[in-house]
Amino acid sequence: MKQLNDSHPAMSCIGNFTSNELSDIMKNIGFPGYRGKQVFHALYSRNHESTFSFDSISTLPKEIRSALTERFGEDQYSLSVKDVHVSQDGTQKMLFSLLDETAVETVMIPSEMVNEEGMPKRRTLCISTQVGCALGCAFCATATLKLKRNLAPAEIVDQYMKAREICETDITNIVFMGMGEPMLNYDNVMKAVDILTNPEIGLITPKHITLSTAGIVPGIIRMADESKSIKLALSLHGTTQGQREAIMPIANKYSLKELGDALEYYYQNTRKPVTFEYILFDGFNDSMEDVMRLAKITRRFPSKVNVIPFHTIEFTAPEGISASLKPAPESTFHAFIKALREQDVTVMIRSSSGLDIDAACGQLAYSHAGGSSGVLG
Ligand code: SF4
Repeated sequence: MKQLNDSHPAMSCIGNFTSNELSDIMKNIGFPGYRGKQVFHALYSRNHESTFSFDSISTLPKEIRSALTERFGEDQYSLSVKDVHVSQDGTQKMLFSLLDETAVETVMIPSEMVNEEGMPKRRTLCISTQVGCALGCAFCATATLKLKRNLAPAEIVDQYMKAREICETDITNIVFMGMGEPMLNYDNVMKAVDILTNPEIGLITPKHITLSTAGIVPGIIRMADESKSIKLALSLHGTTQGQREAIMPIANKYSLKELGDALEYYYQNTRKPVTFEYILFDGFNDSMEDVMRLAKITRRFPSKVNVIPFHTIEFTAPEGISASLKPAPESTFHAFIKALREQDVTVMIRSSSGLDIDAACGQLAYSHAGGSSGVLG
């Protein structure tokens, strides 16, 4: 796995440090530890429209502000915005350039449901956790990029902070479902969660954060053992071992049986229901036999199923099984959901938000520039 070593430019950014770590840093450079908490508070509790500089922290003496600027530089961000695409449905896809000239995409998705003021009830940020991905799922554009490296905690936190500025709105939910497999960058993702959910700054609570995995069993066990309070989703996308192996190479390493056992263990330890993500492919996993097998899988512990329409990745010039995957027809889609509900499964339908800007589920692949896809194009 492409871990970051301490000399990587992203590792020197201030967004890598928790409140306690910033207190230790302050002590190390000769100032009282409580000054670290003031810095942490100033970094994360600012209004979402405002950018940040150490000079703007009025609670700090000038000598501390200068020491911080010297230690972390003028620009505290680990990323900068390269491009923003806005969908007709309000979804915004942001392309961020990182300090080593790699890039990631982040998507802000407003809910269709609105409040009394006519504003979306939820604004969910889909955050990337790696540059590219090693897992090679056949239906996913990110897979074509291969894995470049893990993201640092700061790069994960800063996607949130920059997205708030760009979208000029608060974010109500976070899903780690962007580029990459979060369980393969577990420590950095969990550190970012610790920073973002610190109650001192009140940005977001753990129950509004969901980590989605393609099926990394040791990561699920670790989340269970550590009783993490964020939510867990599994990208299932098949009801048999053969189906999963055909489109998700990771299934060769961790079987459906092992996954089911790990998820049951997770539920027993955390008492948190699990979400199954299920993309419906025409003639592949959309039969009534699949309905019955899926219902059986979900009955082992409290859970729900998100059924997701397949979004084309033709812009990646897919080959092999990737080229053969097609969306289930609308009539099949609705019949599948109806049959699942008749089996008493809780089913949600994931919308195709951002489809017109290739920001929908599984479509993040900035390198496919030009044509109808890449945001660089
Ligand atoms: S679906 Fe997720 S795990 Fe699979 S290749 Fe895409 S980013 Fe990686």
